[in-house]
Amino acid sequence: MVRQPTATPGNAARVLRIVHEDGPVTRAELTRRTGLNRSTILALVGELVEGGLVLEEVPSAGTPGVGVGRPSGVVRASGDVLAAAVTVEIDAVGVALVALDGTVRDRLVEPQATVPTAAQAIDAVERILGVLSARTATRARTAPGARIVGTGVAVPGIVRVEDGTVRNAPHLGWRDEPLAVPLAERLGLPVRAANDANLGAWAERLYGSARGVDALVYLNGGASGIGGGIVSAGRPFSGADGYAGELGHTFVAANGIRCHCGAVGCLETEASRSALTDVTATLPDDLDALAAALAEHRPEVERVVDRQVTALATALRNAIHTVDPEVVVLGGFLSTLLGHVGDRVENDVRAQTMAAMTDRLRIVPAALGRDVLVRGAAELGFRDLLRDPTAARLDPTAARRDPTPARRDPTPARRDPRSAPADTTTTPTRAPDRTTTHTSDRDDAAEEARTP
Ligand SMILES: [Zn+2]
Repeated sequence: MVRQPTATPGNAARVLRIVHEDGPVTRAELTRRTGLNRSTILALVGELVEGGLVLEEVPSAGTPGVGVGRPSGVVRASGDVLAAAVTVEIDAVGVALVALDGTVRDRLVEPQATVPTAAQAIDAVERILGVLSARTATRARTAPGARIVGTGVAVPGIVRVEDGTVRNAPHLGWRDEPLAVPLAERLGLPVRAANDANLGAWAERLYGSARGVDALVYLNGGASGIGGGIVSAGRPFSGADGYAGELGHTFVAANGIRCHCGAVGCLETEASRSALTDVTATLPDDLDALAAALAEHRPEVERVVDRQVTALATALRNAIHTVDPEVVVLGGFLSTLLGHVGDRVENDVRAQTMAAMTDRLRIVPAALGRDVLVRGAAELGFRDLLRDPTAARLDPTAARRDPTPARRDPTPARRDPRSAPADTTTTPTRAPDRTTTHTSDRDDAAEEARTP
């Protein structure tokens, strides 16, 4: 008789992750997807219900896995377990409270009169979270139990994974600014920070245009240039220190413009939002207006479009030869550009890429829009919980009492290259039980991608 693995942290994590990432499922479906037996799933779900992390309900028709015979309960992630998703931009600091069931419960953006320093950003996050927590507490009188389990910060810059130090965020003017540690101490919550585009790539992979895709390249064009993120073999591709995917600074033009990074001919200087909004006389953040202006096909605008598409195709050619992606996801103004020129980006890329490498290639617009960084940062905030739900046992005040910031930790956890997404670790986590039965290679890869 095969000994069935039971309610280990690893198995509870697998169940919680499925429910968190894929939405409500029946217990029968969980049994099928995990390869665990029914009594084990029953025990794991019971444990997660007891912990307040999931709810179990009588199934309605149409829920995946609802079939004939005795109905199996539908398990859904809690809407009261929250991550604080922080975004730092040159003109604003935002915090969104994202629930484990994927809903954005509340959000607040505080405009900044000047580009915020790291200290000002930390102050702003504390203020905003204070307002959001008060609102949540007001609502909690009717629905008690809402609690924040972690915080993720999306930074437009290079972030060192070990300790959440922002090594260089050129548009913010930050160099070697500790961020995760002081913010964790201030908030009394675990905090991780990561590059915004790396988080965006992971969010599009979990919830957007590249859902379930194991090899993708993500490029986002915004006010701070072009950010890139890569997923390979179902895992965030982070490099030695978490800096990988800086596709905005790959070389695309020999006689190009000098970039703020010091190099010449970077993608983000050759294809820039400001060049497009200048020539179309549209507001920087109004991508609808940009799309409408592009649709007029004015010759002076088309000249800029041509140059930008050429630069983009060159960068993608290099990325494709390096990564062999199934999908390229374009966000921000690059998505607007793609919408304007249609198949031309893909045709230009195919014309200069080895044929076999583009057999399956799709170049698609990002799907998550303004929520992309919020969803990515929230994943970072949920990371500890998703790794070991049993450790997050439901004392709503536990996180506040025991923030375990990295500074007090004598043995900071090493960065795990398989972990998702590249980030900083403020709390060492113990290894989960790996004696699980996998049901497919894809599940296998996805599972390993996210467990230590
Ligand atoms: Zn550059």
